[in-house]
Parts: sequence; structure tokens; C-alpha cells
Amino acid sequence: MISKSLEQAFNEQVREEMSSFYIYLAMAAYFEANHFGGMAKWMQAQAKEEMAHAMKFYGQIMERGGTVVLQALPQPPKEWASPAAAFAAALDHERHISKCIHTLMEKATAEKDFAAIGFLQWFVNEQVEEEAHVEPIVHRLGLIKDNLGALFMLDRELGMRQ
Ligand code: MG
Repeated sequence: MISKSLEQAFNEQVREEMSSFYIYLAMAAYFEANHFGGMAKWMQAQAKEEMAHAMKFYGQIMERGGTVVLQALPQPPKEWASPAAAFAAALDHERHISKCIHTLMEKATAEKDFAAIGFLQWFVNEQVEEEAHVEPIVHRLGLIKDNLGALFMLDRELGMRQ
């Protein structure tokens, strides 16, 4: 059985992951509206992954005999200054989520909850990948600046994400 304190922290993480879903969906809508169909598709795929992350925490709370209590989500921004600004915000957000996961791991470790530690390890690894996916895109957008040809080429490439 999961402790009350960890149950609450896992519920908080359901909110964080659903909030990530919402932010990436807002970014997808922003890209779509600005005719970057590839980036919109990339963000939709990202949003779906976040929903799956939320559901992993949901499932874990249930399996450990806890109670899922859904919380209100903050309203995400509706636009960003540029594609570069949106991806920079995505990277900042992933760094924030990594910190959340590390804090959860500290809690689980302090409680010697080995099941939770095992469960969270997947997320520790996943966050390394999440940051590693977004970092090169931010870097390339920094190099591209206002070169529309290069921007649309990157858009096409990102649209190939499954
Ligand atoms: Mg996530």
C-alpha cells in the first residue's frame, strides 16, 4: 500500500503530466495556426506521450491501493513569439518535469518504498530522453534564426515523428 504522502505526491504528478499534455496540445494548435504542420504533428505526438505518462501514475496509484484525485489544470499559453520560443519553453518544461520526478524519487527513497523507486526509475530514464529529444531542436532553431527555408525544412523533418 502506498503512503498517504506519496499518494498525494503521485496525484500531483498526474496533474503535472496532464498539464504537460495541455501545454503541448496548445503548442500544436499554435504551430497548426501558423502553418508549421510538421511541428504541430510533433507536438501532438508529444502531447499523447504526456497523457500516457499521466495514465502510468494513475495506474500506479490504483495498483498500490491509493485513491486518484484529479486536480484542475492551469490554462496554457495560447501563443509563443516564434517556433524557437515554443521549443525553448518545451525544453524548460521538461527540465521542470525532471526536477519533479527527482523530488518524487527522493520521497520514495526516504520512505524506503522500493516499489515506488522501481516505478519511478522508468521516469528518470524517460526524462533523460525527453530532454535529449528537445535540446537539439532548440539548438538548431537557434542557428536557423529567420531563415525561412531552413525553418520549413526542419518543420518537414519534425513532421516525420511517429
Ligand atoms: Mg512526461
